Amino acid sequence: MWVLYHMKILTLDNLQKRGTSLVNRSELCQNDAESGDHLFVECSFTQVVWALFSRNCRFIPQPSDNIRSVILRWSASSPNNFADCVSYYILHAISWNIWLERN
Ligand SMILES: [Zn+2]
Repeated sequence: MWVLYHMKILTLDNLQKRGTSLVNRSELCQNDAESGDHLFVECSFTQVVWALFSRNCRFIPQPSDNIRSVILRWSASSPNNFADCVSYYILHAISWNIWLERN
């Protein structure tokens, strides 16, 4: 989660910043440039994942969110320590599976 929050994950935009020559297009939607915010919040594929998950949860990412605001709002939405713990692992699992699908 640290690499996501601090935008250090090796998305295509970060690889370009490190000097790698490549075409930056989202592997999941094939429409927009890939960044951390795009991959984990804005991408049409990711929006479907969030929509499926949010059917059973009060947390729904908003169009104005970025990955930092999602992590912060998610952390603030849990009412107790057990829910915090479970919520953290759910967010982590969703993010990890989006990353696996992307790869
Ligand atoms: Zn996309």
